[in-house]
Amino acid sequence: MSENEASSSASNFIHEIIDEEIRTGKSDGKIVTRFPPEPNGYLHIGHAKSICLNYGTAQKYGGTFHLRFDDTNPTKEDTEYVESIMEDVRWLGADWKDKLFFASDYFEKFYEYAVQLIRLGKAYVCELSDSEMREYRGTLTTPGKESPYRNRSVEENLDLFARMRAGEFADGSKVLRAKIDMASPNIHMRDPVIYRIRHTSHHRSGDKWCIYPMYDFAHPLEDAIEHITHSICTLEFEIHRPFYDWLLENLTPAPRPRQIEFARLNLTNTVMSKRKLLELVKERHVSGWDDPRMPTISAFRRRGVPPEAIRAFCEGVGVTKYNSLTDLSLLEYYIRENLNRTAKRVMVVMNPLKVILDNYPDDLVEEMDAVNNPENPDDGTRKVPFSKVLYIERDDFREDAPKKFYRLAPGAEVRLRYAYFVKCVSVDRDADGEITAVHCTYDPETKGGNAPDGRKVKGTIHWVSAKHAFSTEVRLYDRLFTIDNVGDIPDGEDYRAYLNPDSLKVVRNAMMEPALANAEKGARFQFERIGYFCVDSRDTFEGKAVFNRTVQLKDSWAKIEAKKN
Ligand code: ATP
Ligand code: MG
Repeated sequence: MSENEASSSASNFIHEIIDEEIRTGKSDGKIVTRFPPEPNGYLHIGHAKSICLNYGTAQKYGGTFHLRFDDTNPTKEDTEYVESIMEDVRWLGADWKDKLFFASDYFEKFYEYAVQLIRLGKAYVCELSDSEMREYRGTLTTPGKESPYRNRSVEENLDLFARMRAGEFADGSKVLRAKIDMASPNIHMRDPVIYRIRHTSHHRSGDKWCIYPMYDFAHPLEDAIEHITHSICTLEFEIHRPFYDWLLENLTPAPRPRQIEFARLNLTNTVMSKRKLLELVKERHVSGWDDPRMPTISAFRRRGVPPEAIRAFCEGVGVTKYNSLTDLSLLEYYIRENLNRTAKRVMVVMNPLKVILDNYPDDLVEEMDAVNNPENPDDGTRKVPFSKVLYIERDDFREDAPKKFYRLAPGAEVRLRYAYFVKCVSVDRDADGEITAVHCTYDPETKGGNAPDGRKVKGTIHWVSAKHAFSTEVRLYDRLFTIDNVGDIPDGEDYRAYLNPDSLKVVRNAMMEPALANAEKGARFQFERIGYFCVDSRDTFEGKAVFNRTVQLKDSWAKIEAKKN
């Protein structure tokens, strides 16, 4: 990320807090942030917001950014996820340099901290069952009850905890709990569990441990061990902050990390819960985590979204304390804004209709000069072959054209982009009366697309030369879900019922201009008048490119929705 990108913030209350800390001397300005994913799924666009915020904050203040895998739960984690997360964070442009950490590397330290807490008389081994524990915890309106194991001696607790570690006890038979206040109005302060027994292998530590720390215990300690100054997390952790502070005040010296919560990113027409994303993959509603319809970073990459567009979007939505739902079309706006500047233009006919230029020499081929990107003169021009038989979009011809139809119609003249004015003279039909070809005459005086006599045409359409074009597969993606707020669907109802049946349409025989024959995997283009596309990196093989639609030129969904209302 450039200096500029990181500092031209929309609204960012966290930076205001840091500025104030620096101004009042509470902070020496040496900022250390972290992105702490749990490796139990692929990263999504919500994580991108957290990455941009944490990395951007470190950059803005000349600080340090850590990538830390929060891998303290042995049951759901996997090295496949670790690999994909690193690839995604790197691709987004967040550089952790040598600051790569794994919470599982701190298991021994966590254990020592727990022992220290027992020594302080602030933790005890409890043998209540899960259901008893729930009952003793009380509710939001009634205080909890103290566990009968709460007043064990320090020696007994040390002995039992050591034996928990040694593997003497079964899963679920004992836990270690912090000793705080069973009457606290904050349920998370009512002697929360900090260690549990799980005889399960861990993807990094193997079978070394059979007790594992709880998230609320491990996370603040991870932050303290790494000297994180600002532990930025989402709003649902606000209620956990008193325990975060309690733990660090008891166990670690000042200066301590400060937890700051912000509102998570929610997007329309998609889901962001890792559980649901995993379901979509496992139940094959999508082809994988990187299916271009998914809200994952790997899917956006495969779909052709530039990382700069995601960063600009994250910057643009700002950082607030209020939960809200961001319209997917805002992300698309940032994608278009970027691709309009960066993507080369090409001509592709999605639904070909043959055009024959009756007065064009049979064997002549001319090379037309086409502009690669009107937004960027440095991209130069290319040659596009032109000949007697062409393809245009079927939609660009109407036999019974309505008044404002400025494309090709009997008797009407249009401009073929970068080529000539042509006029429709007749059509060919098959036995069913379907139009199989359109005959035109061209005006040789209009080469390049302008008439020397100054006459004008209203329409310009794209084309490819039939004998030079090659056919390829194009995948048109749309919203994954038909409704805005998939997150609002109540638990009893199935969110899958709202999957968009038209989220993928495959065009098998789109006709491309020959310049696209050598396009590399991941290359991005604007198909003139249609949209932005990129070469699929997974299903493209030697000589046979498959294209993904990144985004349409205009927001047609918004128009459809507006019509419905
Ligand atoms: P879960 O904890 O349910 O598995 P998670 O999405 O919180 O899912 P983590 O791996 O814990 O997954 O997330 C890593 C970081 O990304 C956390 O700091 C979390 O707060 C942040 N994060 C997750 N989802 C969003 C979101 N939608 N918007 C902003 N930040 C998010
Ligand atoms: Mg989480």
